Amino acid sequence: MLLLEEEKRKLVEGLWSKGIKDENVLKAIYDIPREKFISDALRKFAYDDNALPIECAQTISQPFTVAYMTQVLDIKPGDKILEIGTGSGYQAAVLCKLGAEVYSVERIEKLFENASILLPELGFKVHIKLDDGTLGWEENAPYDKIIVTAGAPDIPHHLVEQLIIGGKLVIPVGDQQTQKLFELTRTETGFEKKFYDYFKFVPLIGAEGWKA
Ligand code: SAM
Repeated sequence: MLLLEEEKRKLVEGLWSKGIKDENVLKAIYDIPREKFISDALRKFAYDDNALPIECAQTISQPFTVAYMTQVLDIKPGDKILEIGTGSGYQAAVLCKLGAEVYSVERIEKLFENASILLPELGFKVHIKLDDGTLGWEENAPYDKIIVTAGAPDIPHHLVEQLIIGGKLVIPVGDQQTQKLFELTRTETGFEKKFYDYFKFVPLIGAEGWKA
């Protein structure tokens, strides 16, 4: 069996060869103990570059997806970030490790509870709320950046409205099978759009998402 450090090194090298060149993102992935965010039974797969099941039929995203979206977000220390879809808390931990002030919304109570215990236990200070994240988190708006970690049928306008001018929203949009990753930058008059690759996420369910 490979040592933990060896498994982490292999994962990070694999991410680098797939196009993740941001050293800070790679270091955050290396440093964060992904095995703590999954069940004991799956721990031997913690550093495989795959999504894994977590409770309530949800997933912890593939490390490549986490690294890719984080690289697109271009996190600067002190950035105020809203994450929609806390899930296991792993993506929030990566953002935190990069020095962001992280606000995260989860709609499933059990996952919200788990992450509310685990993240502080691991030393990550993340503000978490149980709610429908398609409506954002208005009390703390505006945000420098917003990341949505579930697949949306369309762009929720509440999220765009909670961005600063110049701020960006990174969100997968498509049907329930595959989604295209969009980056929207808010401008004085509206927003500019950019497209990236295709991904596969669990559905974003809510008032401005898919219906439950
Ligand atoms: N960021 C997560 C991680 O690092 O483990 C990945 C989470 S999983 C791919 C997507 C999460 O989005 C699920 O936990 C799901 O319950 C949540 N979700 C779906 N619709 C939501 C909504 N409207 N508001 C908040 N969370 C939502």
